[in-house]
Amino acid sequence: MRQSLRILLLTSLLFTTRLATAQTNYFFASTDPSGRPGPLNPAIPTPEQFLGYPLGSHMTRYDQIVAYFRELARLSDRVHVETIGQTYEHRPLIMALFTSPANYANRESIRQNHLKRATIAGNDEVPLVVQIGANVHGNEPSGGESTLLTAYYLAASESDEVKKWLNGMLVFVEPILNPDGRDRFANWANMHKSDASVADPLDREHNEIWPGGRMNHYWFDPNRDWFLCAHPEAQAHVAWFHRWIPYVVVDHHEMGTNATFYFDPGKNSSNNPVVPAYLYDTVYPTFGNYFANAMNGIGSLYFTKETFDKLYPGYGSSYANFYGGAGFLFEQASARGFVQETTTVPLTFAFTIRNQLTAALATLRASMAEKPMLLKLRRDFFASAANQAKQSAVKGYVFGDPADQTRTNAFVNLLRRHQIDTYELDRDLTAGGRTFRKGQAFVVPTEQRNYLMVRSAFEKQITYSDSLFYDASTWSLIHAFGLPYAELNAPTGKGATVALPLGKAITEPLAATVPPVERSSYAYLIDVSDYNSYRALYALQTGGAIVKTSFKPFSANVGVENRAFGYGTLVIPVQQQTLPADSLFRLVSRVSKQASVAVRGVPTGFSTQGIDLGSNNVRTLRKPEALLLVGPGVSAYEAGEVWHLLDQRVGMPVTKLDLANLPRTNLSRYTTLVMVSGAYPNDKAISDKVKAWVQGGGTLITLKTASEWAIKQGLTKEKLVASDTTRRSLRYNYDDAVTYEGAKALGGSIFTADLDLSHPIGFGFTDRRVSLFKNSQTMLQSSQSPYNTVAQYTDKPLVGGYVHPSSLKRVAKSAAILASGDGAGRVILFADNPNFRATWYGTNKLFLNALFFGGVLTVPSFEGEE
Ligand SMILES: [Zn+2]
Repeated sequence: MRQSLRILLLTSLLFTTRLATAQTNYFFASTDPSGRPGPLNPAIPTPEQFLGYPLGSHMTRYDQIVAYFRELARLSDRVHVETIGQTYEHRPLIMALFTSPANYANRESIRQNHLKRATIAGNDEVPLVVQIGANVHGNEPSGGESTLLTAYYLAASESDEVKKWLNGMLVFVEPILNPDGRDRFANWANMHKSDASVADPLDREHNEIWPGGRMNHYWFDPNRDWFLCAHPEAQAHVAWFHRWIPYVVVDHHEMGTNATFYFDPGKNSSNNPVVPAYLYDTVYPTFGNYFANAMNGIGSLYFTKETFDKLYPGYGSSYANFYGGAGFLFEQASARGFVQETTTVPLTFAFTIRNQLTAALATLRASMAEKPMLLKLRRDFFASAANQAKQSAVKGYVFGDPADQTRTNAFVNLLRRHQIDTYELDRDLTAGGRTFRKGQAFVVPTEQRNYLMVRSAFEKQITYSDSLFYDASTWSLIHAFGLPYAELNAPTGKGATVALPLGKAITEPLAATVPPVERSSYAYLIDVSDYNSYRALYALQTGGAIVKTSFKPFSANVGVENRAFGYGTLVIPVQQQTLPADSLFRLVSRVSKQASVAVRGVPTGFSTQGIDLGSNNVRTLRKPEALLLVGPGVSAYEAGEVWHLLDQRVGMPVTKLDLANLPRTNLSRYTTLVMVSGAYPNDKAISDKVKAWVQGGGTLITLKTASEWAIKQGLTKEKLVASDTTRRSLRYNYDDAVTYEGAKALGGSIFTADLDLSHPIGFGFTDRRVSLFKNSQTMLQSSQSPYNTVAQYTDKPLVGGYVHPSSLKRVAKSAAILASGDGAGRVILFADNPNFRATWYGTNKLFLNALFFGGVLTVPSFEGEE
């Protein structure tokens, strides 16, 4: 190497080191009254040394974050990195463990003792398990960036305090909970960064294009998914969680640019009543003092108590609360870029990173010091849960839909993710007016360790003291899955014991099993009650099969058995096909196996009861070609739910068309247009275009505000429920506005509707009563035509959740689904979102019916009563 080059390199290294020291002092100011971080191991590179730029000056790409953690693991015997999963976009999900080498060597026995400690006294020497996570929302970057510094400090600090932490704790850091979204945002901010910083909030750097980086690949909010586990990020995280069940979980977030910093305690009036009060009235305020001290030390403003509830078990900061831990939420005002103007001084990315780091280190300090409190919390929690279970009149739940193995199994598998003990039903049983059969139903006892999660999954109505909800107000999974179920009550009242019909415990994920297909020379039949029927139907159509659907029920002999086939049964004739019989048999066999849907061969079209297979009521289906409107103005969540459903659950491509491109799009190749909630333009050219396409034979499916748009644009004659226009001169205190007005919002509750089972949108359902999730004020009037109201809310529709009385009155007897005809096409209006968070398996089928059977739906005309 040339001498001059070597000098140059050496000088630049010294320069970087000096800058790095200045930066390190800035970030770690809270760790010591001197404002300096104490002795640091020089063999451990700072993030700046590793990355080549000061933190806060650039958004660190996810691969660089992973690389830094792996470098720490390579250099330090305090750090170990594990891959716990993979995102849709193939980014590895990593979890890093920071602890002393001695603890690491004993980690398995520590884990075993740790898991036992909830019940065994005198075993308090076992190290604490603490977990820090960040960036579940991809465009809230300060949390994720701060984990680089948390990791550096734990790896490099030679201070007595950090050594004590490493001896006394296993600190797990999951630097980025949503890497796909994080990279979307990081690339956005980096690609628009200017050397001369643009702090103007209007700059493109601070305003991501639709859909932004908050969500995961399919535009879901991953910070609602810990309870629902619909996506790989939550699935990996929850599986890890149950290996370690941490005492403390930290979730770093960001909020609006003009806010300050938030830490717990949160809003008192909205604590979850099933969780013991000790968490809220002792643990949160005690930890709050540590956070306050740390933030006071660096002069940062903050607030607590006013907002952010922990009612829902699916937030990163609340899940641990349902397992005897304490979840903490940090919310930092976002620079949403590198520097942004505020009502005071410009907010820098570096400042936001420092606040997050300060809060994370304060958590470790508090956890270490308050270990006895955390141990008591856990013991009390499980004692309280056991006591609540003992007191409960409900001793178990029995459930299962024999006609839909896929949906039933998905529910059981979700319960198992949360470590809810679930058993096969060991005998036939009648309960709650329903009969459940051995081999087709399952039982969940309430007296089990994770009783609070059992309540969360099954109870439709838990009473909360507040009527303001940050999100939905009920999340009963059994209703979301739409499964027949019954409570098993103690026969002699409260507190009594009952022998539950428990068969074999479920220990492995369930998969549906179907018999092999019997070869037929006449026709194959598929009942459409299984959730995977649509996957099978689409695969058959893609494979070149002509598939029909039956508009009337019938019975036929299958082998020695006479079977009833319901509305919507798929009929695949063997001869009227372009495929030869051999190929068709191979196709139906493959599809049956892959979709786990039973396909039944019949030797004759002559039914034992009802219509024959050659009837006019058996209509040929067209393979759907669907267009989904997306882009600015459209709800990314709802659009993402449709995309995810079709892509992941049905295996069907859907074209995502930007709303802005609709005017110049030729719609003729599409059978179906899906419009989810959105601010659609009041533009006659657009509505005329859609109308002409519908009249030519298209199926328009609209959800929520898109249904309102369709009505207002005259695409259908159906009507909205009139809003309450009575004006009274009321007078309230200004300060009460948020409480009064917020209480009127329909945050998300469950309602019952009556479904027409003979309508193509009701195909495959066996019960007229269906539970629907409603979180909007879209209310459709029941149709003037008696055939158009496919599903109607009952007169007392509320099943669970909070709803303001004025809204409840409007929901009662309103239409949940309307289907009206126009020319050769039809318009199908949903008042609500049947695809909510990929968890409403029960109502997904209504949407899929509209998509697959809409094309053969002819809407009867009605001339009025005589
Ligand atoms: Zn967030």
